Amino acid sequence: MENTREQQISTLLSQESAFRTRQAIEAIYSPFFRSWDDVTSLSKPMRERLAGAVSWNTLTMTTALPSVTGDAWKALFETNDGNRIESVLMRNSRGQLTVCVSTQVGCAMNCAFCATGKMGLVRNLSQDEIVDQVRALHDLTVDANVPGEITNIVFMGMGEPMANYEEVRGALQVFTGPMGIGTTRITVSTAGLLSGLERLLTDPLWPPVRIAISLHAADEATRKRLMPTTAPGFIDDLVAWSRKYAVAFPEKRRHLTLEYLLLSGVNDSESDTWKLVDLARRIDRVRVNLIPYNATDSGFSGSSEDAVRRCKDKLEAAGITATIRKSQGGDIAAACGQLAGRGN
Ligand code: SAH
Repeated sequence: MENTREQQISTLLSQESAFRTRQAIEAIYSPFFRSWDDVTSLSKPMRERLAGAVSWNTLTMTTALPSVTGDAWKALFETNDGNRIESVLMRNSRGQLTVCVSTQVGCAMNCAFCATGKMGLVRNLSQDEIVDQVRALHDLTVDANVPGEITNIVFMGMGEPMANYEEVRGALQVFTGPMGIGTTRITVSTAGLLSGLERLLTDPLWPPVRIAISLHAADEATRKRLMPTTAPGFIDDLVAWSRKYAVAFPEKRRHLTLEYLLLSGVNDSESDTWKLVDLARRIDRVRVNLIPYNATDSGFSGSSEDAVRRCKDKLEAAGITATIRKSQGGDIAAACGQLAGRGN
C-alpha cells in the first residue's frame, strides 16, 4: 500500500506541532481550497514544502459531460500513471447531490452484463484516488454553478469495493471523518465478495455505512451465469452472513439492500420473483432495489417497464420494501455500473 497523503503530511511535518499537521490535513479536505497555495493559514515556506512533497490532487479531470436532462454529469479522470476512470455526479428531485465513485481501474468480477467487467482488472485505486473523485466533483459543482451540496456517496462505479478493502476503508474514513458525510448517506455496493463482507463485521476501523449486495438472481445457477464469481452455496452463505450483519450492526437504519438488475427473459419471470421473495424473507431488515438495465453490448436486454413494475408490486404485496432505481445520465453512458473506459 502506498502512503496516503495524510501519512506524507505527517512525515513531512514531523518536526512541527500536531496542530500544524492537523491543519494541513484538514486543508486538503476543506471545500474552500484548490491548492496548497490557497492555505494561507500556513506559512509560505511550509506551503511550498507541502506543495513539493504532497500532491494536492491525485487525479486530473479530463472531461465533465452534462446529461441532456441536466441532472447528471459524467467526469472522466486520468490517474498519474495514465489510467482512466469515471465518476458520476447526480442530482435527485430534492436537489441533493450524490457522487458515484470508482474503486478500481477495470474489474476482475467479469459480470456478464457489465461494461467494466469486459476490461478486466488493471489495478486498485488508492484511498486518495477514491476521495479525489468526490473532491473534484465538488469543485465542478462550484465552477459549473450546480446548486446543492454533495450529501451522498455510492460506491457503484468501476470496480469491486470488497476486492480493494483497505483503500475503500481508508476513503470511507475520510468521507465520514474530515469530509463530514453521514454513514447512512454512503452505500458500498458489492458483487457479494464474502471475504470482505465477513471482515467488515468485526473490523473496528470499518465505518458503519450502508451495504448493498448485487444479487441479480435468487437462484445460484442464474446468478452464476450472470456473475461468474458466484461461489457454490452463495445464497445460503449470504443469508448466514446477513444474520451476523444484523447482530454486528443492530441499529434499525443499518438495513441491507439487495440490488436486482432486471433482464428480459433471464431473471424477470414470475417464478424468479417468487424466488427473490423467498430469499428476501430470510434476510432481516432487507430492501430490494430493482435496477432497470442500461444497455451495453452484452447481448442482454432490460425488462420492460411493465415487468419492472410487476416485480415491484409482487415484492410489496409480499411485505418486502422495494424501490425502482431511477435511471440518470443514460444519454452520457454515465449510469453507475456502466463506466467503461471507452474513451469518451
Ligand atoms: N462491483 C460492485 C459495484 C459496481 S457496479 C457491485 O457489483 O455491486 C454497481 C451496480 O451496477 C451493480 O449492482 C452492478 O451489477 C450494476 N450494473 C452493472 N452494469 C450495469 C448496467 N449495464 N445497467 C445497470 N446496472 C448495472
